[in-house]
Amino acid sequence: MSSRFVFTGSPAARGMTLGRARLVQPSEFNIDERPLDAADVDSEVARLRNALVHARDELRGIRDKLHGALAREVGEFIDAHSLILNDPELTEGLYDLIRKGRYRASAALKMQRDRLIAAFEAIDDPYLRSRREDIDHVIGRVLSALTRDTTPSERQIASRVGTILISDTVAPAELAHLTEHGVLGVVTTGGSPLSHSAILARSMRLPMVVGAHEALKRVTDDDLLLVDGSAGEIVVHPTAQDLQRYRHYQRELARSAEALSRLKHARTLTQDGAEIQLFANAELLNDVAQARAYGAVGVGLYRTEFLFLQRHELPDEEEQFTAYRDLVLAMGGAPVTIRTLDLGADKADNTGLVLAEEPNPALGVRGVRLALRQPALFTTQLRAILRASVFGPVRILVPMITSAEEIVAVRTLIDACARELRTGGYEIADHYELGAMIEVPAAALMLPGMVRHVDFLAIGTNDLIQYTLAADRGNDALGTLYDPLHPAVLYLLARIITAGARAKKAVTLCGEMAGDTRYTALLLALGLTGFSMHPSSLLEVRHAIGECDRQKLRALGARLLRAQTRAGIKRVLADAKG
Ligand code: PEP
Ligand code: MG
Repeated sequence: MSSRFVFTGSPAARGMTLGRARLVQPSEFNIDERPLDAADVDSEVARLRNALVHARDELRGIRDKLHGALAREVGEFIDAHSLILNDPELTEGLYDLIRKGRYRASAALKMQRDRLIAAFEAIDDPYLRSRREDIDHVIGRVLSALTRDTTPSERQIASRVGTILISDTVAPAELAHLTEHGVLGVVTTGGSPLSHSAILARSMRLPMVVGAHEALKRVTDDDLLLVDGSAGEIVVHPTAQDLQRYRHYQRELARSAEALSRLKHARTLTQDGAEIQLFANAELLNDVAQARAYGAVGVGLYRTEFLFLQRHELPDEEEQFTAYRDLVLAMGGAPVTIRTLDLGADKADNTGLVLAEEPNPALGVRGVRLALRQPALFTTQLRAILRASVFGPVRILVPMITSAEEIVAVRTLIDACARELRTGGYEIADHYELGAMIEVPAAALMLPGMVRHVDFLAIGTNDLIQYTLAADRGNDALGTLYDPLHPAVLYLLARIITAGARAKKAVTLCGEMAGDTRYTALLLALGLTGFSMHPSSLLEVRHAIGECDRQKLRALGARLLRAQTRAGIKRVLADAKG
C-alpha cells in the first residue's frame, strides 16, 4: 500500500477537492541552435510568420468558444496574450534575429523569451514579476505551433475528466477549458497567487495551489490526491481520516448550498426582523436573470461603460435607449439604477472617445468631470435614460461626485433634457431620482451640506478606499495597504450612512465589500440598510444578514468606531463572531 505524504504550496483559490493526479510535464521544445544558411532565411521567416498566425488563431478560437461571465473574465486574459503576440517589438525582434543573427525560429523565440524574462525579473514588484508567466505561455504557444503540434496542449489536458491537473504552469485560456471538461483542481509547481490564472481560478471556484515545487517530482499519474486550496496543501494517498475530513467538507458545502437555495425568494431580514434591501450590480442580461431569480429588490448599479467599450464609435441615443429600456423591462417594475458614464483617460482606448493622456487618470478627468466637460456626450446618455424611464422606475446615478456644484450642474442638464424631450413629443416618466456615488472622501466629509441636492446615495467603496488610503485599487503589490478595515474607511462609511439617514435619503453600498460576507455584520453595525452586489453573492449575504441581531449590532458599531487601529477593528470583529 502506498503511504500517505503531504507537501505544500501557496494557496491560490479556496476549496477542497479529491481526484486522481494527471501530470503534464513541461513541454520539451526542440530548440535548434544551428545557424541558418543565408538561403533559408526567407523560408524560416515565413515559417515563424505562419506559427504566429496559427497561435493568434488558436487564441481567437478559444475566445469565440467562451460564453457568459467566463467570456468576459477569460477574455481579458486572452486579450493580454494576444497583445503580447501582436507586439511589434516582439515580432520585429524575432524577424531581426532570423534575418540578421541567422537564428532558426525556435532559437529566436527562446532568445526573445529569455530577454523579456530577464527584464521582468529585474522589476522590483511581485505583481509585475508574476507577468513573466504570461510571456512563457505566449512563447510556448508559438513554439508548439512551430513544431506543428497538432493536438494543442490545452485540448489534450481538457480531455481528462475528474482529475487534478499537476503542471508547471497553466494559462488562463487553458483553465477555462479545464473546468468545462471536469478538471476538479489544479496544482502548479510555479506561478504566483497574483497570476491571471489564479485570479481566474478564484472567480471560477476551482481549488488551486501554486508554487508547489515538488509536485511534478513526488506525484505520479493516477495517485489519489486531496487538495486543499485554502491551506495550500496536497495530501498524496490520503488515509481514511483524510477522506472523512473531505466528506465533512462536502457535507458542509452541500448543506450551505441547500440552505442558500431555500433563501432564493425569502425576504432579507435580520434575526430580529429588520428588513434589509439587497440589490444587484448587473451589466449583462444574464446578471439580470440571476438577480431576479435570487430575489434582488432591484438593480443597484448598472455600469454603462461596457456599452462604450470594445468599439470604435460611440453608441448613439437610440442604441443606448434600447439597452436601458431592455434592462428596465427585464427587471419587471423593480427599480433600476443606471450609472452615467464613468470613463477616464485610462479606460478610453477602444471606445471611440478621444481623451488627452493624463499622468494620473484615477485623479483626472473621469466620471462626472468628463461628463460635464463633454455635454454632447452626456446629454445623449441622459436623454436615452430619460426615455427608458417610461418603462419602469429608473434612478440616475452619477459617479465621482466631489462637490454640490457638480450635482446641481447635472440636475440642470437633466431637467433641460427632460423639457426638450417632452416638447419633442417623447413620453418620459413624471418622476426620476438623481443620486450621487459617494466615492471621493471630500464628498463623504461634506455630505451633510450636500445631501439635500440628491434623492439617494450609493457608496462606491472600491474607489472610496483607494482615495482615502492613497492606495491604487488595481495594484496588488500594495497588499494589505488597500484595506476596507482601515479605521479611516469605517469612519467615512459611518459618516455617509448617518448623513443619509438624517436626511431620510436611501443609502446603498455597491462596492465589492457589499458582496463579501466578511463585512456583512460590520456594515449592518454601521447602520447600512441597502447592499448592492454581483447577483452570485445575493444568497450568501442574505444568509449572513439572517444571522445578525440588531441589539448586538448596535454594540458592535460603537466598539468598531472606537477602535483606532486595523488590528483593533479585527479584534472587535473576531470577538463578535466568537
Ligand atoms: C466603486 O467605486 O465602489 C464602484 C462600485 O464603482 P466602480 O467599481 O465601477 O468604480
Ligand atoms: Mg467607482
